[in-house]
Amino acid sequence: RAKQDGRGVYRFFEAQMGAAVREKRLLENDLRAAIARNELTLVFQPQVGVASGEVTGFEALVRWTHPVRGEVSPSVFIPIAEESGLILAIGDWVMREACTEAATWTNRLPVAVNVSPVQLHAADFLANLEAILAQTGLAPGQLEIEITETALIRDLARTIATLDRVKALGVRVAMDDFGTGYSSLANLRAFAFDKIKVDQSFIRSVDHSDQSAAIVRAVLGLGSGLKLPVVAEGVERLEELEFLRAEACAEVQGYFFSRPAPIADFAAITSGRDRFLLAANATALPAR
Ligand code: C2E
Ligand code: MG
Ligand code: MG
Ligand code: MG
Repeated sequence: RAKQDGRGVYRFFEAQMGAAVREKRLLENDLRAAIARNELTLVFQPQVGVASGEVTGFEALVRWTHPVRGEVSPSVFIPIAEESGLILAIGDWVMREACTEAATWTNRLPVAVNVSPVQLHAADFLANLEAILAQTGLAPGQLEIEITETALIRDLARTIATLDRVKALGVRVAMDDFGTGYSSLANLRAFAFDKIKVDQSFIRSVDHSDQSAAIVRAVLGLGSGLKLPVVAEGVERLEELEFLRAEACAEVQGYFFSRPAPIADFAAITSGRDRFLLAANATALPAR
């Protein structure tokens, strides 16, 4: 009897796995078509200086609206793209689009672009990056790439060699989702990052969890010791902002100030007419 049940459970898992694999393959095919039809778009999320309240830059984030399913989250389709190799085409498109856009910003604010480990390890990554900078005319100093710690796990020496050459171009490199990887501190020593982005999971509870508060304070201390600016990701509430301000965090990013949105929504800023977000929440910052 038990044996029978066991087999039933096994068949159930097999069927579920089959379904998951099929589902992935369907999405992968649709994603391939979406790339070919140029159906991906970019949104931008402002980064805000805590002391000044000014917008200090934008992170570019890719979006995919599926013809039937609607919006598919990048946390769903980026892993599929990484497994299938489609990330190379996506990454190239994102980089080109973000650089083309940022090159038009009169105030020359920096743009941050997420780079997948698969993309970073591709043989032509640097050549592509240089070509895009040359073709779009974007000053390398206006570009920042964001690397998650998982990118550093595979072939550390080669990754560092690539990142060194990226920096030699004048492009800055930020460590994304800091604290969620396997060896955050070793990674900080192995490569001269220009910025640390503290993962939003630590910010989420910073004003009511002693553990999160201690961790964020430690990362801010690390940043000041290493002379690296620290950006807090995922700031949603005033209490989180107040904590970060009291702890002298340099920059924040999050729904509290703005969700990621089409760049046209930020035209007043990118054109240099204004340095502050119009959002009501922006008034939570010191007088301008
Ligand atoms: P990430 O690079 O850490 O980006 C931050 C994510 O947090 C974004 O999710 C953003 O919309 C979200 N976020 C920002 N503020 C808040 C907040 O206050 N609350 C909450 N709950 N979320 C907030 P998104 O756009 O869904 O992207 C998820 C991840 O997908 C990114 O994490 C990044 O790892 C990846 N991704 C997105 N766009 C690209 C891309 O163009 N290329 C690559 N390789 N990866 C990308
Ligand atoms: Mg990022
Ligand atoms: Mg992040
Ligand atoms: Mg992330």
